[in-house]
Amino acid sequence: MMRDVVRSFAADASSASSSADASAVTGAVVDRARARGDRARELAEKQAPTDLAGVLDASAKTLVLTELLRGMSLTLKYFFDKKVTINYPFEKGPLSPRFRGEHALRRYPTGEERCIACKLCEAICPAQAITIEAEEREDGSRRTTRYDIDMTKCIYCGFCQEACPVDAIVEGPNFEYATYSHEELLYDKEKLLSNGDRWEKEIARNLQSEAMYR
Ligand code: SF4
Ligand code: SF4
Repeated sequence: MMRDVVRSFAADASSASSSADASAVTGAVVDRARARGDRARELAEKQAPTDLAGVLDASAKTLVLTELLRGMSLTLKYFFDKKVTINYPFEKGPLSPRFRGEHALRRYPTGEERCIACKLCEAICPAQAITIEAEEREDGSRRTTRYDIDMTKCIYCGFCQEACPVDAIVEGPNFEYATYSHEELLYDKEKLLSNGDRWEKEIARNLQSEAMYR
């Protein structure tokens, strides 16, 4: 095939030469075409051996002895190497204590909500994903009556966690909360508090390990 290309290239060049006696420009073009044709011919001769011995030699080198063995040795090397893949979801990779996952509202060990409804998290949220309503309790304390996060708006910047003066709203280590519908990602206070109850141990440990950097 390469040969055919070369031949047609050379034929084009020679026909160009015969039809361009008068013009110097055309002559230069023809020379260039010839030079290209020669180069292509040389390359084709180098790449594709013409005699049987050459063909057999090249085939043995590239297909059997060299490329196949090199490929197999690479396979063998990785077969005995330490595996980089894990059997998710049964195995999980390490997570940084700074990982920003699913949100949670925390409680004190007494069971009392930490959130004091200061609304700093709502004010700082760049995605305006947080909606808070609050009122005063009978004992004079201030607590939220509504705490919603639209998780489909959230950009996981962590500003709400940083702004909170009592470590109430946090981004926990959970990243497995994919849902089938948009509605399931509209979190209310009950959902956030239950997240906090579920992940409190891990969240407290992570906050503790990062305390000196905050
Ligand atoms: S992580 Fe950022 S975007 Fe998400 S709720 Fe908190 S402040 Fe808003
Ligand atoms: S979660 Fe924190 S920052 Fe947000 S309203 Fe409650 S106390 Fe304030």
